[in-house]
Amino acid sequence: MKRIAHYIGGTQTPGNSERSGPIYDPATGEQTGEVAFGSAADVDAAVASAAAAFQTWRDVPLSRRSEILFAMRDLVRDHSGQLAAAITSENGKVLADAEGEVLRGLENLEFACGIPSLLKGEHSQQVSHGVDVHSALYPLGVVAGITPFNFPAMVPLWMFSNAIACGNCFVLKPSEKTPSASMLLAELWQRAGLPDGVFTVVHGDRESVQRLLSHPQVAAVSFVGSTPVARYIYATAAAAGKRVQALGGAKNHMIVLPDADLDMAADAAVSAGYGAAGERCMAVSVVAAVGDVADPLVDAIAARIGKVKVGAGTDPETEMGPLVTQEHRDRVAAYLDAAAADGASVVTDGRDLVTPVGGFFLGPCLVDRVRPDMKIYQDEVFGPVLSVVRVPSYRDAIELVNHNRYGNGVAIFTRDGGAARSFEDQVQVGMIGINVPIPVPVASYSFGGWKDSLFGDLHMYGPDGIRFYTHGKVVTTRWPDPATSTVDLGFPRTR
Ligand code: NAD
Repeated sequence: MKRIAHYIGGTQTPGNSERSGPIYDPATGEQTGEVAFGSAADVDAAVASAAAAFQTWRDVPLSRRSEILFAMRDLVRDHSGQLAAAITSENGKVLADAEGEVLRGLENLEFACGIPSLLKGEHSQQVSHGVDVHSALYPLGVVAGITPFNFPAMVPLWMFSNAIACGNCFVLKPSEKTPSASMLLAELWQRAGLPDGVFTVVHGDRESVQRLLSHPQVAAVSFVGSTPVARYIYATAAAAGKRVQALGGAKNHMIVLPDADLDMAADAAVSAGYGAAGERCMAVSVVAAVGDVADPLVDAIAARIGKVKVGAGTDPETEMGPLVTQEHRDRVAAYLDAAAADGASVVTDGRDLVTPVGGFFLGPCLVDRVRPDMKIYQDEVFGPVLSVVRVPSYRDAIELVNHNRYGNGVAIFTRDGGAARSFEDQVQVGMIGINVPIPVPVASYSFGGWKDSLFGDLHMYGPDGIRFYTHGKVVTTRWPDPATSTVDLGFPRTR
């Protein structure tokens, strides 16, 4: 069985804690390894190595940082297959999807390669007589990232590409369920020429997280995970004086208007609802069917579900893999009983599907006539379950979305440009797709939701990522000119 250690100061170390956690292959249900759980002392060692590395990394010229980022970009691309295999073996998603995750993450390294341009300050000449002003961006120091099980490579890449490019040293606490990809990324950083200590991995659960949140040398915390933990991370780290961005859960709606292309909408609902077994924060969870589109749409989705191939993620024929753990699979399955008891109609019950024995499998599920007061609608299910809410009008669809506590992603399917434009304006959600079911922004924009989907002020990666990982200075300069020098006790005036 593999045993995953921490990566501190450029070397793998088992740490000094007796605690560890199991790693499973979700396709077989077998334990394949264990991961060390960092103690407070392990976190202290990781932060100390990062703090020491910061003393030199912050002064490394931008051209050299860019060179290392370019090298890392090539290494990640060349090892995307290996990274995908590591992800599939612990998360369960199909290999092609895991590789897609790596390639979307790669965009963030490509964005960060432009760091000499991204860190440009501003300059204003002659803001007053003989006075110039310029601004400059500085790294924060040691910054931490705490990441979820569902994107073991992409979410760390969202964070550390910009953090490291800006001159910070990054301590990653990956999900204990999917720790291997982070170790491969650490190896690639070393091969790219990143100095030891600039990128550090400390594994674990709430104990290591708690120490990161309270450590006086951690300047900022980026978090992606579920809403209750995001809320806790935000409150705890902010109270300790740290800069925080904490991205939480989601309940993404897909509105289908009566004029939509029905086949396109049904294809999109199935792709975005069941891709990665629904374990995506941008997965479609609710289809809001407007008016008389509901009956044909439910039929079209149900017909497609029958053809989705469920199996091990390593099988090239498979379209949907297992869920991450048995516990999570059972939690998701329990929503079907709750929905039926609440009066919804279970059109397709994924529990009926004959799936490989032993793995954490649940087939695609479709539940019609869901109402907003039902548990299946209120909670983030995070599994292969699509709920259909029937709404009489476009206005009701907007109201449904805006009353939901989450505001991560939303999509509208329509041929009506006016409706789409008004939707974009009125919907209280951070990321919107117009006939695009999973509107994850490209890396030159930033990613983030509204309401309970994000705690903090800045979104993740892209321009907001650069702002999050730097603080600014503004320098006002006057060079001595004996001809104009006088004593003046008044407040400095610019005119
Ligand atoms: P999670 O909240 O259980 O765990 C996320 C991280 O927090 C892990 O590293 C975990 O070890 C740590 N953690 C868990 N409980 C903790 C506690 N009590 N104290 C301190 N640390 C704790 O999330 P998950 O199950 O790994 O991931 C799935 C969730 O992540 C879903 O809710 C999904 O919507 C969300 N997610 C959101 C986004 C986004 O961009 N908004 C992206 C991906 C996933």
